[in-house]
Amino acid sequence: MDIAVNRDKCDGCGECVSVCPNDVWELDDENKAVPVRAEDCEQCCSCVESCPNEAITVEGCE
Ligand code: SF4
Ligand code: SF4
Repeated sequence: MDIAVNRDKCDGCGECVSVCPNDVWELDDENKAVPVRAEDCEQCCSCVESCPNEAITVEGCE
């Protein structure tokens, strides 16, 4: 799955980690979101919709 994070926009709030049903997300040691299990993404778009900073892009999600 094609997932991208704008690291300049991500503030490490953890919303994407919380909402993803498939544990795709983790925060790295700089407190930035990383899609560590992108292959488990089911394109539910929850992370894209919940990110307060519009930092996430997922293939198939607006
Ligand atoms: S689109 Fe859904 S399944 Fe995919 S990473 Fe975001 S929250 Fe997880
Ligand atoms: S929801 Fe957005 S700002 Fe919050 S950790 Fe995830 S990518 Fe970063």
